[in-house]
Amino acid sequence: MTERPLHKRSLAIHAGTRRSQYGEMAEAMFMTQGFVYDSAEQAAARFQKSGPDEFIYARYGNPTNRMFEDRIAALEGTEDAFATNSGMSAVNGALMSVCRAGSHIVAARALFGSNLYLLDLLTRFGVEVTLVDGTDLDQWRRAVRPGTTAVFFESVSNPTLEIIDIQAVARIAHAHDAIVMVDNVFATPVFSQAAAQGADVVIYSTTKHMDGAGRGLGGVICGTRQFIRETVEPYVKHSGGAISPFNSWLLLTGLTTLDLRVREMSRSALAIATALQSHPGLTRVIYPGLTDHPQHDLAVRQMAEGGTMLALEVAGGQDGAFRMLDRLRLILISNNLGDAKSIVTHPATTTHQRLSEEDRARLGITPGLIRLSVGLEHPDDLIADLRQALD
Ligand SMILES: *Cc1c(COP(=O)(O)O)cnc(C)c1O
Repeated sequence: MTERPLHKRSLAIHAGTRRSQYGEMAEAMFMTQGFVYDSAEQAAARFQKSGPDEFIYARYGNPTNRMFEDRIAALEGTEDAFATNSGMSAVNGALMSVCRAGSHIVAARALFGSNLYLLDLLTRFGVEVTLVDGTDLDQWRRAVRPGTTAVFFESVSNPTLEIIDIQAVARIAHAHDAIVMVDNVFATPVFSQAAAQGADVVIYSTTKHMDGAGRGLGGVICGTRQFIRETVEPYVKHSGGAISPFNSWLLLTGLTTLDLRVREMSRSALAIATALQSHPGLTRVIYPGLTDHPQHDLAVRQMAEGGTMLALEVAGGQDGAFRMLDRLRLILISNNLGDAKSIVTHPATTTHQRLSEEDRARLGITPGLIRLSVGLEHPDDLIADLRQALD
């Protein structure tokens, strides 16, 4: 009998579980930096080659971290994964492990600020970086060339929610054997089929939806077993990027409800976008799930739903946006996302303040733009809060 594959929702609860001799129900937290050997010979043998349930040092691997890595790999549909101590550590690990002086990276320009910083850092070591408008396939075609090491982009850009066509960019990159690396935070593993769509490496900040309660930093790099164990692991384990077993343990429980949470947040995001679409206090409502989003069809094809994030342009520029934010009662002003608590951010003065005004304008980050991460509160309460603030 061939086994029917489990749904992601089921995998998020069971995949990767390792039980100790006690048969514990909940995943155990192995809060240990190291492991004891029965003999000197065993220690020597393990340093030569460790089996799947043999560990040496938590910077290299740990049973709780391994459970999290196996679970996320199962969800993402990749052979393996390596967990890191932050999302940035994951991006750094993926990029640094494939680059050397003379490497060439092509990246989308609309990136999280720290991602842009990292790319700039690489240029100090002789890596050439070409930035393109990620939604313009002709720019990718012109930039990727024989010898290009990797392409890198956020599948849904922050904060203006442009969708980059993973399949099309992968086709362009693969024609020159470039590795396709996708920072997939906004899509989440629930809506993502990035690996099936051609991504070779899928990167998450687990600080966001996977934790879901804003408790701890974490990240993960997903890819083939060979890439993760032979390319990524040596770099990350020797450069100190390993995640704490405590954070992996938080994430293992976070993942059990990821599917339910993210679907509910996406439903609420659509309800909010629809309810506010014609509010006179807003000059723009950007949500990939609305049919007026310029890439709505691509969003549906790539993610099935619009996701948990919205961008709203408040009338009256920065003054208007600030006045509205200051009047919110339920929705919190902060800069995380994917949390159970709804969060608003004013990108131009916070997450993207380091960019020049010209660069912000080019990315569509106008003074009135606010980013909303939709949480798990009742959507009617969120709509009421946004309405009273806008009114
Ligand atoms: C938050 C975020 C990161 C960085 O993750 P940290 O966990 O904060 O290090 C990278 N990329 C995107 C798209 C993010 O939203």
